[in-house]
Amino acid sequence: MVEIKRIEETTPEDYVVLGMKSGLEIHQQLATTKKLFCRCPVVRPYSEEFNAEILRHMRPTLSELGEYDGTALMEFKTKKEIIYQIHQDTICTYEMDDTPPFELNEQALDIALEVTMLLNCNLVSEVHIARKQYLDGSIPTGFQRTTILGVDGWIPFKGRRIGIIQLGLEEDACREVSDVGHLRTYRTDRLGIPLIETVTYPDMKTPQEVAEVGQILRYLARSTGKVHTGMGAARQDVNVSIEGGRRVEIKGVCRIPLIPLLVHNEAYRQAALLDIKRELARRGITPDSFKADTYDVSELVSGTQYYPLAKALKVYNDVATKYPKSTYSAEAYYRTGVIYHERLDSLKLAQEAFGKVAGEYSNSDFAAASLEKSTSMKRLLELQKAAGKGETVDQAAEKRFMAAEIQLTRLGDVQTALAGYQAVLDSFPRTAVAPKAAYAIAWIREYKLNDKDKAIESYRALVDRFPRSYQARGALFQLGFLGADSLKVELQAYVDSARADTTAIEKPAPAAPANPDTAAIVKKNLLPAPSDTVKKGGTP
Ligand SMILES: [Zn+2]
Repeated sequence: MVEIKRIEETTPEDYVVLGMKSGLEIHQQLATTKKLFCRCPVVRPYSEEFNAEILRHMRPTLSELGEYDGTALMEFKTKKEIIYQIHQDTICTYEMDDTPPFELNEQALDIALEVTMLLNCNLVSEVHIARKQYLDGSIPTGFQRTTILGVDGWIPFKGRRIGIIQLGLEEDACREVSDVGHLRTYRTDRLGIPLIETVTYPDMKTPQEVAEVGQILRYLARSTGKVHTGMGAARQDVNVSIEGGRRVEIKGVCRIPLIPLLVHNEAYRQAALLDIKRELARRGITPDSFKADTYDVSELVSGTQYYPLAKALKVYNDVATKYPKSTYSAEAYYRTGVIYHERLDSLKLAQEAFGKVAGEYSNSDFAAASLEKSTSMKRLLELQKAAGKGETVDQAAEKRFMAAEIQLTRLGDVQTALAGYQAVLDSFPRTAVAPKAAYAIAWIREYKLNDKDKAIESYRALVDRFPRSYQARGALFQLGFLGADSLKVELQAYVDSARADTTAIEKPAPAAPANPDTAAIVKKNLLPAPSDTVKKGGTP
């Protein structure tokens, strides 16, 4: 058994015994005036304003080798909806994958080559631009354009050398605003900003060394005076492995002082896993003899105050009081808001917590997401206020509908939204928003709940109930899309009857009469159309 130690108690020899190795990948933004593959300006600090939103679904495509990428398929199956918030000053059609790349930004190339030489790298003789897969949606194309400028370098460190595998030049990805349920939101101002990526060999032997080398590499690049500094301008990925374990990559560490503890914990986590592996082997347990069962324990805790939540709220409150105006208190308020919203169902307290972060911590990493949530929640609270004097039925229905829309699209709260739309349909069936609510219900069942049968049922109910609505047409389309072959006859009947209804409304006259006077009479008397015309549908 490995004795798990706290970082303060661990000596460099302990890590040698574990056989720990660690390497770094450091990303730093270059201080260029323009982006890497288009001519959009680099605007920093980032703004929280945007002019438009674009909704995208990621779809896997066949590779040149004729197969689907496993990771791409997996990501696709999560059915994520990606929203890009764009600002006209910082984006063009290149970033949104509608225009091919422009030539590589030469200012960026110059800076990157300077750093490559500082790292004693061998320069490549030709620069080739390659694509690196990016499947989380943070780059609309699904890949990052990247290039290697130098290989096999080194820096001096405490009487030895730390090897540099390579230095690459690449484009930065979008900033994530929020990731709630199936909805992920990005802001695109950061997208395409030139980055250098420095990759070291796993030459660091202790967690402290990893941080020290990280600082040296960052300051080396900063010594050129041509890289951005400040929160988010540099990010590192830390690779850690121990003897017998696997390489684990800790991604996106935003501050170097965080590195030692992360590396230490990862090393001992792997050591503990190896202990478990040995114990399982000792007991003769193999993948074939292993059996897992799942038990639902929510019944057991339903009647309690659920101590962990109450405790978490207290801890966050302590942090916020103890370290006011710090990044820790910003995070504490943010997490308090999440608990109130997602676990305790208190919109009002959640809004207060998010509002605090957005107002008092507007420079923190949690500000953008908090502002989004607090604005949506504020609007929701207003909509939920008791009906105003003189409010018409239509206005009341509209308010209820808007609330459900916010729950669905802004807060990712699918079940609450579904209940809201159902309430609109039940309480305000004759209003203009009723067919929209009916459509939303069917849509949620199809896309959010993956319940095809229920979705078909809901689309059909919509067509029956509001056959002349705009939404009925959409529902018919979806039914055709969802329908198995057995559905087709019935579907055609739906389509025919809906068309007949539309025709009956739009053209009260059964046929174009030769005599205008006859037409006038037909209209005046509202003669019903002959039944055979109705059956034929809209084809005269
Ligand atoms: Zn651009």
